[in-house]
Amino acid sequence: MAFIQVAVPVPLRQLFTYTHDSALEAGVRVMVPFGPRKLVGVVVETLRKSESEIDNSNKLKAIEMVLDHQPIVDGVLLKMAQWLWQYYHHAPGEVLHAMLPVLLRKGESAGPTPQDMLMLTDEGKKTLSASLSRAPKQNACFTALTKRAMLAIEARKQFGAPAVKALVEKSLAVIKEVTPEFKPGAWLSTLTMAEKPVPDTEQSVAIAALNRQHGNFAVSLLEGVTGSGKTEVYLQAIEPLLREGKQVLILVPEIGLTPQTVSRFEKRFGIAVGVLHSQLSDKDRLQVWQRAKAGELGIVIGTRSAIFTPLNNPGMLIVDEEHDESFKQQDGLRYHARDLAAMRAKQHNIPLLLGSATPALETLNNALSGRYAHLQLTKRAGGAQSTHQHVLDARDQPIHYGISQGLLTIMRQHISAGNQVLVFVNRRGYAPALLCHHCGETVTCKRCERPYTVHKAQNRLQCHHCGGMRAMPTNCEACHYNELVTAGTGTEQVEQGLASLFPGVTQVRIDSDTVRGKDKLHQTLDAINRQEYQLLVGTQILSKGHHFPHVTLVAVLDCDGALFSADFRAPEKLAQLVTQLAGRAGRASKPGEMWLQTHNPHHPLLQDLVHNGYGHFARHALMERKAASLPPFISQFVIRAEATDSSLAYRFLQDCKQVFTQAHAIEISGPFPCLIEKRQGRFRFMLVCSHQKRAPLHNALRLALPFLQALPQATKVRWSIDIDPTDFS
Ligand code: ADP
Ligand code: ZN
Repeated sequence: MAFIQVAVPVPLRQLFTYTHDSALEAGVRVMVPFGPRKLVGVVVETLRKSESEIDNSNKLKAIEMVLDHQPIVDGVLLKMAQWLWQYYHHAPGEVLHAMLPVLLRKGESAGPTPQDMLMLTDEGKKTLSASLSRAPKQNACFTALTKRAMLAIEARKQFGAPAVKALVEKSLAVIKEVTPEFKPGAWLSTLTMAEKPVPDTEQSVAIAALNRQHGNFAVSLLEGVTGSGKTEVYLQAIEPLLREGKQVLILVPEIGLTPQTVSRFEKRFGIAVGVLHSQLSDKDRLQVWQRAKAGELGIVIGTRSAIFTPLNNPGMLIVDEEHDESFKQQDGLRYHARDLAAMRAKQHNIPLLLGSATPALETLNNALSGRYAHLQLTKRAGGAQSTHQHVLDARDQPIHYGISQGLLTIMRQHISAGNQVLVFVNRRGYAPALLCHHCGETVTCKRCERPYTVHKAQNRLQCHHCGGMRAMPTNCEACHYNELVTAGTGTEQVEQGLASLFPGVTQVRIDSDTVRGKDKLHQTLDAINRQEYQLLVGTQILSKGHHFPHVTLVAVLDCDGALFSADFRAPEKLAQLVTQLAGRAGRASKPGEMWLQTHNPHHPLLQDLVHNGYGHFARHALMERKAASLPPFISQFVIRAEATDSSLAYRFLQDCKQVFTQAHAIEISGPFPCLIEKRQGRFRFMLVCSHQKRAPLHNALRLALPFLQALPQATKVRWSIDIDPTDFS
């Protein structure tokens, strides 16, 4: 009899031992009884122990079914899982579940399933493609099919549905349901090299440095201003790897994963790219997983969780826009995909490339200290100029719908020159608050104790913390006067204001209220680049992943909030936002300018950013972090607790603090209320734990965890551990 350690998907920080008649390979899924339930677990290890060495061996339950003939979690991914549950102090079974596609968590077969495949008919095989010379798409599709059968869905994507249909109607091709045979390096048969620009000196230096890293673990930061040709460096750096049959995994922020990004890689290399994002169906996700694992896909592009994609023969990992907050998971298993990428690259012994115009201070620190190679692109590619940045002093100026007189004058100049103007507003909705003009009472969401946001178009109030809605009141609840007025400005109000300030000028608003779903966003962005609109009003969405060549003015309406935030990362986030926004505008023939409207024009952060740029700001901010003993110069974790009874959550954290202070020399501050003190009826508190060094901090947590779990309130409050927190809300 063998004793098998299984990661079972339950929120307990331990593995469970089951029996089986023979040893099982690590990474195989098994069906196990767990209480009254049957769960799909993953084998982590077969213990090399005999019955007498195992406690209570006669009480152990047997594995009910082995679901895989071969491990579906390979050695590297299993190591990664172990690292994850140790580093993030998380339940092993939940970690392994988070790493697998949904269908595999449910126990479905991991092998290839029948697919619609497009292939040549016997007649097609005898036909010369020359007969299709007047239909180039059909011809290209036909030529591809002479090399190998394709997934029908992919053929339609690459050559268009009409071309596929035409080939089928001409009986040159058929669609048949077959179980595909995935082959490692399959892309080599269609790999082509489209024309590419000659890299400039800085790009050449970067590409050469990356070429020297093949087959070795190394991390590089590619720090390049927006539009400096970072993507071009990725393309040229992975070319030799693809030729050798090596795979490349590229992580991008959710919003940066556009059809344009994917097609840029597909066009350059003439191969299908595996795409993984949150809106994919479970079936499609499993298929990309299978093809990547089999080594059939040369390039996989995906968002955060794509870091768990198995690879047969990896050559390089890339994290684009590595500073983006979407790489950190903010609930459940709170991992950072960038850190995980470094860990994974090390296990595979391959290079990791991190790219950004506004690197995270953590990453920049690693580059400046020499732990990472530091590659820099300082100029925009193709001769485009960078956007000039200015501070606009709004003090004592008349303000119309959140826009100062001075800013209006500048906007008029750009509008009358026929250019596009981008107005950034950090809040959606009409106004962030509704209050009583008589008694001053604000209308608040009772569950979050925060002001409701006014959404005028829908004539209702919405809480942006819990999503709760209510009808627009007419009278104050406190004094019953009917003089409710809005305070502050959101995108909806700016849009309305601009319509009256610039009558007849075309305008579009881009925020999560107006662009629901990816397609709508892409359509709107395309319309902007076709110059269907002159005024663009929007939120953060505008700062990510899209270039607006006809925009010559970027106006930021309010940056004062971020200047005085309680979050020590607020300046970094503001600087990244402002710099990314500035980078969206202009092109060679149309240099752009940016104005930051503020009531604190002499604030050192704004002055530094405007005069010296992000690189300078970031290096200075790092010195400040060092002086103040803040990350990345110390390590942190946060314990959060929430409960409907605020004293319960508070007391739990106080008791947690006791557990630590009794035994460990780590610095603990709190419990404090979280930046969002109440959400959905629960009061929220946190305990911030720090130490100069990571190892003792983690050690203290590991030793303390059993005691924390045993605290009297531990089962009464919702609590979680966040390692290397990036957000204190
Ligand atoms: P980034 O990823 O840094 O934003 P891209 O790689 O998208 O930059 O490059 C910006 C634009 O400049 C693209 O249109 C790209 O094709 C072009 N480009 C990049 N490198 C060169 C080069 N060496 N010569 C000419 N054009 C280039
Ligand atoms: Zn609420």
